[in-house]
Amino acid sequence: MCGSWSTRSPAGRPDRLVAMSRLVIRGARHPGDIAVEDGRISAVGPVEAQPGDHVLRCDGDIVTAGLVNTHHHLYQWMTRGRADGCNLFDWLVHLYPVWGRLSVDDVRAAAMVGLGELAATGCTTASDHHYLVPRGDDEVFDAIVDAAGTVGLRLHLSRGSMDLGESRGGLPPDHVVEDRDAILASTESVIARHHDGEMVHVVVAPCSPFSVTPELMVESADLARRHGLRLHTHLCETVEEQAHCLERFGRRPVEMLEDWGWVGDDVWLAHGIHIDDDEIAMLGRAGTGIAHCPSSNARIAAGMCRVTDLRAAGCPVGLGVDGVASNEVGGLFPEIRQALYTARLREMRPDALMPADVLEIATSGGARCLGLDDVGRLAPGQRADLAVWPGDDLADVQDPLAGLVLGPDRRARHVLVGGRPVVVDGEVVGIDLAGAHRDLAERSRRLWDGA
Ligand code: ZN
Repeated sequence: MCGSWSTRSPAGRPDRLVAMSRLVIRGARHPGDIAVEDGRISAVGPVEAQPGDHVLRCDGDIVTAGLVNTHHHLYQWMTRGRADGCNLFDWLVHLYPVWGRLSVDDVRAAAMVGLGELAATGCTTASDHHYLVPRGDDEVFDAIVDAAGTVGLRLHLSRGSMDLGESRGGLPPDHVVEDRDAILASTESVIARHHDGEMVHVVVAPCSPFSVTPELMVESADLARRHGLRLHTHLCETVEEQAHCLERFGRRPVEMLEDWGWVGDDVWLAHGIHIDDDEIAMLGRAGTGIAHCPSSNARIAAGMCRVTDLRAAGCPVGLGVDGVASNEVGGLFPEIRQALYTARLREMRPDALMPADVLEIATSGGARCLGLDDVGRLAPGQRADLAVWPGDDLADVQDPLAGLVLGPDRRARHVLVGGRPVVVDGEVVGIDLAGAHRDLAERSRRLWDGA
């Protein structure tokens, strides 16, 4: 049985109480007690009671570091369940024109649901790669930041972009791409408006080799490095992408990455599937990260990421849900087991990836991809970003972490971000998640009615 936040003073909001007093999580089966002070973990293991402690009983529950999502497209929630059975390029061609009609309010509504679902499934740091800004409406980034603040998650806000339309050899229709100078000016503005290095990190993120010009890739890298920010893009997702690069440039995608000056420890790539041994060694030496999105990769049959080889080479590897149009769930917890199963199947080796490995990928591996060294671990000094998982049904399982990873899907009982409660007793406290789902479903119906 798990205690709840009922110990808080009826007059006080839980976040204020947590900020003013020490919070002690007691009775968890793993890792034992945890003390939280000033937004950070101050002790793990037996914690002696002090007067004024705010105690959260979690008897028999399992506590992990909050999950870190390294790749997502929140806006895609409105187009889930479409273009199934298509490969990546056909799927994109089907959806680009629909995405081009999304309003800023649509994106805000999708972000509320997407971030709410991430919180409910134990995520504390989210990434959103938003690359459709068809009318130059970069208020869309304000809307996404607003949603993250309302839900209470840390956000890596990737200012995505596309500047290569169909008429110049790109995949997206011309009306959904932007002018390169406008993209760079907007990116500067988004950085100035939103990057605080704590709750919001702005990332510079041209979309993919078949939707951007080499000039945008090079200038984006310059811009990011002038500001000390990270770079993110899709790469090596499908064999079709590789064929496109060989045909258009006579170069493999990773060779192009080198040409653009994008091989470095300030870069993480979404997918990273079709990479050969030499390329893995080079990316590993550089410390370039990979966002592994196993469900999305399976849905569109993109391939299976060489997770164990990448990790052995030194690449940070994190998990990503990817957009819900290619994932259909939008929760990070299910990706943990999917990643474990995918690695074992790919290698035909039952110990290719063990529960502790995949939990590390879902937490500290993701944090490394995002350039964060103070989230992702349950250790003194780390930010108090953590997830409490119900453990009632796992009491008979010998290894609680293995039970968590291999057992039934579950939603978090409580989630803290910087010690502040974001999910309490299974409810996302910042928003009415059920109401947000209803609003989004109605918007989605209107979007498709207008198709
Ligand atoms: Zn993606």
